[in-house]
Amino acid sequence: MKLHEYFAGLLTRQVNIDRTRLADLQQHVDALAECLSGDVALKRVLRGFSRQGSWAHRTIIRPQPDREYDADVILRMRHHRGWAQDPQQYLHAVHASLARNELYRPRIELKTRCVRVSYAGDCHVDLVPCLEYGFSYFDEHLIVNRTENTLEPVNPAGFARWFEGKDCVAAGNLRKTVRLLKFVRDFHGQFDIPSVVLTVLVAGRVSRWDEFWLRYRDLPSAFTTLVDRTNTLVQGFPEPPHIGDPSCPSADFSGRLGGAEWSRFRSSFNQYAGRVSEAFDETRRNSSIALWREVFSDEFAPR
Ligand SMILES: [Mg+2]
Repeated sequence: MKLHEYFAGLLTRQVNIDRTRLADLQQHVDALAECLSGDVALKRVLRGFSRQGSWAHRTIIRPQPDREYDADVILRMRHHRGWAQDPQQYLHAVHASLARNELYRPRIELKTRCVRVSYAGDCHVDLVPCLEYGFSYFDEHLIVNRTENTLEPVNPAGFARWFEGKDCVAAGNLRKTVRLLKFVRDFHGQFDIPSVVLTVLVAGRVSRWDEFWLRYRDLPSAFTTLVDRTNTLVQGFPEPPHIGDPSCPSADFSGRLGGAEWSRFRSSFNQYAGRVSEAFDETRRNSSIALWREVFSDEFAPR
């Protein structure tokens, strides 16, 4: 059964990120932007800030009590001739700039592609330097890989447009499906797959040739359709498959998945997918609620 009211309740109570957290996040990023733009050493290269990833796609979810949520911010930067042969300098410059600030010094950590700023047990902001070539935000973009000291092509705006287009076909229910699956992942902890990989796998299953009224007219239908299709795809790959970035042909996400991680995801997702289709097909209300609870926990229909 579809049980719309329980899906809506679960999203509101447990899954959607609350307004307070979103407002705090914006404040953190505004303060970081002010600090970095005021830095003399960075002023010449820094062009601006853009949201990226789940924050940009509105698939960010409320963190579980013991977990932090993460927001990615692109630092749009100009090409610096002196760093052409040594691209890690872009990351070091951002790190050094924040390290000069007393407030940020204890909170920052230099990662492979970003500088992470942590906010006591609630969230962290990943600042990702991104070089822009050309004149608009849609031209070529490269991010820094510090450990290999190389530049890697990305297309954050293209990815956002691709996801937006898929969500539009699914009448806004793709975004909610991704949020629900991230909740299942974080709540039960049975599998751990990077959000970007999950997003690409699920969004890639939306097709504009689908019968809209059958597949996406409501959230339970869209969720069941997309979980079933994702599962069919995933079961076809005993080893981690090549997962291309739909917005950038030369980039791929496969490197973010280990074999053991994939195999745990594959077997666990198969079990959830089985429950989802049983719960959807079950016509007796109480039995259907019990099955949906196995997927989403008792939070689906609080007792
Ligand atoms: Mg991140």
